Amino acid sequence: WAKAAGRGRWAVYDPERSARDIARSALVAGLPAALDRGEFVLHYQPIVSLLEGTMLAVEALVRWEHPELGLIGPDRFIALAEETGLIVRLGEWVLRRACRDAERWWREFPDARLVVSVNLAARQADDPAIVETVADALATSGLPAELLQLELTESAVMGSAGEPLRSLHRLAALGVRLAVDDFGTGYSNLAYLRRLPIHCLKLAGPFVEGIRADGTDAVADHRDERIVDALVRLAHALELWVTAEAVETAVQAERLRALRCDTGQGRYFGAPAPAEAITLRLRGGAAA
Ligand code: C2E
Ligand code: MG
Ligand code: MG
Ligand code: MG
Repeated sequence: WAKAAGRGRWAVYDPERSARDIARSALVAGLPAALDRGEFVLHYQPIVSLLEGTMLAVEALVRWEHPELGLIGPDRFIALAEETGLIVRLGEWVLRRACRDAERWWREFPDARLVVSVNLAARQADDPAIVETVADALATSGLPAELLQLELTESAVMGSAGEPLRSLHRLAALGVRLAVDDFGTGYSNLAYLRRLPIHCLKLAGPFVEGIRADGTDAVADHRDERIVDALVRLAHALELWVTAEAVETAVQAERLRALRCDTGQGRYFGAPAPAEAITLRLRGGAAA
């Protein structure tokens, strides 16, 4: 029973909601200890050249190996980690682990020049210490800077003050690649975009989902396909690479290739998998 915080407003007891809140706060409470116990793991998803079919990069995607609940995806804890600030420590762990894994791939398969792409939360990107953290992760692992890509969302690129982050130029000066993640879902300021030291746009999944080239689709005007076409042209006009996310079918891959999209990522090219799966794939590629 609760007389709510605001005057004259009553909180209605909702058993479902409070069960959800309890589950949520139990997850939050467990995050720091999970980090200390080493329960987080990285899976890697291939980013493939649409023209050549070769694997050019992999995206590092964090998972929580929960002792009771099993493998938990980032959608269930990244937002919580952002709210509590733990994302700074967790993100640093991800960055260092990804750099170490990528350095091993680089040493074992130097010709592949495989890039590792790491997501940066807004809160991490906004932290002025991020430049030193990235520089140190590179120096400690021995990974060449050009084999690291950092993914920021449109809102993270803009920073908390609504200004493009100052750190972006310092990060780019280190030699790392910068990508705008989920492009097309936020509010990109195109005037800023053209002045930012970014290298790649990742087109958000929903645009790709809308691509069905068989013509039998209800959406006969191919609107999403035309949006992808426009965004690819925009990216290329700005001399940026384009990666299409969430590519699930051969038809989508073929359409994206026809639209001059550079690279694709999604279940069609390989689901996120442990590092060993990438090693095997590199070994197969080297043998071929
Ligand atoms: P994202 O960076 O856009 O990552 C792509 C997401 O699409 C991943 O979800 C991936 O598993 C999923 N995906 C892969 N193939 C397909 C497909 O064919 N179709 C569809 N519909 N989706 C596909 P995941 O692994 O659940 O990650 C969700 C989000 O969590 C990521 O979205 C990213 O924003 C965040 N995230 C993951 N790892 C980290 C991390 O280390 N740090 C931070 N800050 N965020 C992370
Ligand atoms: Mg998921
Ligand atoms: Mg990403
Ligand atoms: Mg994305």
